[in-house]
This record gives sequence, C-alpha cells and structure tokens, in this order.
Amino acid sequence: MQFRDGFSATHKVLLLLSMVVITAAFFSTPEFSQAVLIPDLVQPESGFAIPMVGDMVTEPEQEAPQSQVPAAPIQPLTERYEIQPGDTLSQIFEEKGIPATVLHRLLEADVEYLSLETIRPGTMLTFVYSLQGTLEDLALEVDPARTITFSRQGDDSFLYQKTEADTYWSPVVISGVIQGSFYASGIEAGLTEGQVVEIGHLLKNQIDFRRSLRAGDTFSVVVAKEMTGEKLTGNTQIDSVSLHRGKRTYNAFLYDGSYYDETGESITLAFRRWPTSKHYRVSSPFNGHRLHPVTGRKAPHNGVDLAVPYGTKVLSTGDGVISRVGNHPYAGRYVDINHSGSYTTRYLHLSKVLVKRGERVKRGQTIALSGNTGRTTGPHLHFEFHISGRPVNPLTANIPTSANVPENKLASFKTQVSKQLAMMRVQEKSASMYAEAATGTTAH
Ligand SMILES: [Zn+2]
Repeated sequence: MQFRDGFSATHKVLLLLSMVVITAAFFSTPEFSQAVLIPDLVQPESGFAIPMVGDMVTEPEQEAPQSQVPAAPIQPLTERYEIQPGDTLSQIFEEKGIPATVLHRLLEADVEYLSLETIRPGTMLTFVYSLQGTLEDLALEVDPARTITFSRQGDDSFLYQKTEADTYWSPVVISGVIQGSFYASGIEAGLTEGQVVEIGHLLKNQIDFRRSLRAGDTFSVVVAKEMTGEKLTGNTQIDSVSLHRGKRTYNAFLYDGSYYDETGESITLAFRRWPTSKHYRVSSPFNGHRLHPVTGRKAPHNGVDLAVPYGTKVLSTGDGVISRVGNHPYAGRYVDINHSGSYTTRYLHLSKVLVKRGERVKRGQTIALSGNTGRTTGPHLHFEFHISGRPVNPLTANIPTSANVPENKLASFKTQVSKQLAMMRVQEKSASMYAEAATGTTAH
C-alpha cells in the first residue's frame, strides 16, 4: 500500500476502504492518538489522508479538494519518529506500512556496522519517501554529532553513510569522600554506575576496594564529556583517577587509548591477538576498502573471518564489560565488548552466547561458541577490533600491550599527568574548604 503520494479520486476510495482496516492500528500507537488527528477521521472529506502521514514534518497540503485550485507541487515526504520504550524496528516499519523486505535490505546494508542495533528510546529516525511512497532514505541520529544515512540505490539495496560533526572532550573533576562503600560514595559524588565499576577495575591491582578503604579516604576523577558545539553527545571517558588512602595515592591516567600509573607503567593487561586458543586460517581478511563484487560499490569488511570449526570456544581478547548481545538476520548471534580506554571488540555468527549484557569478563574468558548464524557461507568467526569507534585489522593493528609509555612519549605523558593532577588538586582543595566551612572542623 502506498499512502504518501498525491491522491486521485480512485486512490481515495481505495484508501477509505483500507482505512477501515488500519484505523484501529493507528489509534493504538502514540503518535496517532493526538486529538488533532481525530476530527480528520470523523470528517474524511476534510483531508482524510493526514492521519496516514502521521507525524511527518513536511507533507503536501491536504486542504479540502477544490477543483479550481491547481494541485500544489508534491514534495518528497519526510517523517520523523522518536523511538519509544518497547519499540522494535519491525513493528515500526509495519505500522508505517513499509514492507518487511525493505527493512531486511536495510539490515543487510548495516551488517558491517550494526548501527540499527543501537536504537533506544529517544533515538530519532527520519524516513524520506519518494513520490511513489517508497522509502528512499532512512537516517538514524546516533547522537548529536553522528548520523547514519541509508540511501536506496538503483537495485533497491541501501548504501550506508556516516556523517560526523567535529567533537571535543570537555573535562570535569568529580571528587568525593568515602563513606561506606566506594560504589555508594562514587554514585553520591556524581559518577555513573559504569564509571564507578570501571574505576574499580582500573585500580584493582593496586588496592583492594572491599577491604582497604576507610571512611574519610578521598578520590578525584577527571571525567571527559564529549561535546559537539555546545551539545553533549552522551559519550564520556575517564581521563584520570586519584584515590587517596591515608598518605598513599593510587593513580590511573588515560594516555593514547590506554591507562598508566603516574610513572607511565601500564595498569591494564595486554590484549590477546586472537579470540581463539589456537590460530586458524583467515577465510576472509579485514578490508576497509573492499568493493562489492557485483555492484562495485564500497562494501568494507570490518573484521577478519577465521575458519574455526562449529562450536569452537570464543575468547574475550581483553578484560571488559559486555556491552551488547544480539541476534541479527545477517550478523547472526553476536557479542560486543567494551574494554578499558578506547577499545571495543565484536564477535559474529556465534552458535551460543555464554555471557549477558553488563557482565564483566576477563581476558581469555570463554564468552561464546562459534557457529554459522546469520548470513554465512559456512561456519566461521567474524572478529572485529575497534579503536575509538573505528574498525582496524585485528591481526595487524597496533593493539595495546602492557608495556610502559614509550620513551619518546614520556615527556608528553608527564606533562598531561601534571595537568590532570593539578585539576584534581584544585577541586579537592575547594571541596575540603567547603567541608570545613560547613562543619567548622577539620576532617581527620
Ligand atoms: Zn566477516
């Protein structure tokens, strides 16, 4: 059914008939339950097509038909939709009358990125339709700085394009005093749950968070918030941590994507190169510039395909937190892991996933069994390694080792450390002055 073009008399009759069937469905969705739409259904002659275009931003004028007025030029229609809790893409597409085959072609275009898997309540989608009512473009606003556009090509497939605005990191210092657990004190000071857990992970080899901390110990964290222009993107990173326990201080500093102590010694484990205990034949190499064999268009292979037998143990290549577990028609069952610093890994076509979202995993831990799910030509493991959100060749990239900051970068590292320590000290001083002013005593 095509609702989105101009309406001839014949179309109107057909639409009236089809409306009987679909009205109930429209009223059951939030965007169609707005009072303003209801009179149009009561008086179909006053432009009954409007409920069908829903929350479109630009739409052809649908005034009451007046034969003496020439038809307004018909524009392609744009419709914005904000993801609601409980929404699924297939349900949204069904409600909009877009065929399931179109959604499948979008998912196919997204297989090397899995961007559509990130939609969550509040995410904005923009649908652009042709005059014939066919979906031409789908734009996904990942965050205020990043938009993914899927554009329909001549062969009805979709082309994935990412646009990114300039971003920068804006640091803030968050300080607090331990009262009870570090977890509770961190949340109280304004850190997120994820940040508190990450700090615990960063300092876990230096200090026992459960046993060694005492009431009155203090901490400072430089949290960088990613911005584009004046807007927050929602991405944050921990730039540095200082934990004071009695006279001792435990530090972690982010430098070049990895964390080090104040002397420049690595505090995070090196990554494994392979996500399996043995090495296997590479059945398809990483290729960021691959061209599609048929269409000749850019179709990168953002990971490496390893010819592992079905059911092989898949290992996390580093310590981290499971950020996503999903099942995709083309990528199959998959797992995404967030590691400390700027690193993420991804594992596709799994037969069985052994971890849950939010779970902390260790380097070398079995997270899944390999398989043949999604669109494959046989059992294999597709493995990706991303640095700051960009896929790199996992077998050759300069992956983090547990070595110290290299000699030639030590000076720049130390400069950064002094700046961050100074930022944290300023904040700690003003916080303790507040505390003294408030209680009239010096903390001891
Ligand atoms: Zn692959």
